[in-house]
Order: sequence, then structure tokens, then C-alpha cells
Amino acid sequence: MSRRRKRFLCGHQGYGQTCHRCAQELQAKTLKATVREQARAARQEWAASFAQDVVDLEGLPKSIVLKARQVIAEILAGADYRRFKGKRLNHDRRVISIPLNYHYRLICYDTGDRIEPRSVLSHEDYNVKKPLA
Ligand SMILES: [Zn+2]
Repeated sequence: MSRRRKRFLCGHQGYGQTCHRCAQELQAKTLKATVREQARAARQEWAASFAQDVVDLEGLPKSIVLKARQVIAEILAGADYRRFKGKRLNHDRRVISIPLNYHYRLICYDTGDRIEPRSVLSHEDYNVKKPLA
């Protein structure tokens, strides 16, 4: 068996029938494309997920989106808003503010027979435009 080093058509040098460097580069390129494709699919899936939300959550930080979805699901299932440290507003007792974290809160409206999630506001939004019912 000849183990003579030779120069391939691509210009690389090595042993065997085909160039291992080119094979490796191709494999790395394919892997990168796969990773890119998976990231693109994940982004698309994330963007599409907002269509299912009863409250507009687009543009919010991912952790807030996930927290909001969890709280909204539980509120819609009949959970008491006080479980999430929710409070009724003094200027309108029908409006309930539920903290999601230090910066964001979920605003719900008590229609009389149910609690409807309405919007997620940041601390800044909340102070500028008082939540509308
Ligand atoms: Zn090569």
C-alpha cells in the first residue's frame, strides 16, 4: 500500500483517494448551514407563536412572554389573581395589575363574570398612560 503524500486537484496535499481537508471543510460548512437553518426555524416558530396569544406580547423580552403566557393561562383557567400578587387599582377597582417582574405587569379587567387579560405594560408605559379598561 502506498502512503505517498500527493497533491490533489484542489491544491491541498495529503494521502488517499480524496482530499481530507476539503472533506472536512465541506462537513463544517454543512454543519454551519444546518445550525443556521435550525435557528431560522426556531425564530419563525417563535414569531408564529404570538398569533395564539390573547394579549399582544410581541416585542417583549422572551422571559416576560413566557411568564405572561403562564399567568394568562392560569387566570383564564380560573386561578385567583391574588395568587400572583395581583392588585386592583385604586382609581378603577375593575382593573387588576399583576406583576410579572420588577419592570412588567399584566393588566386584566374584571368584567363582572370573569377576569380578562388585556395587556402587558412596562413600568414606563404604566406610569405614562394609565392602563385603560
Ligand atoms: Zn483539498
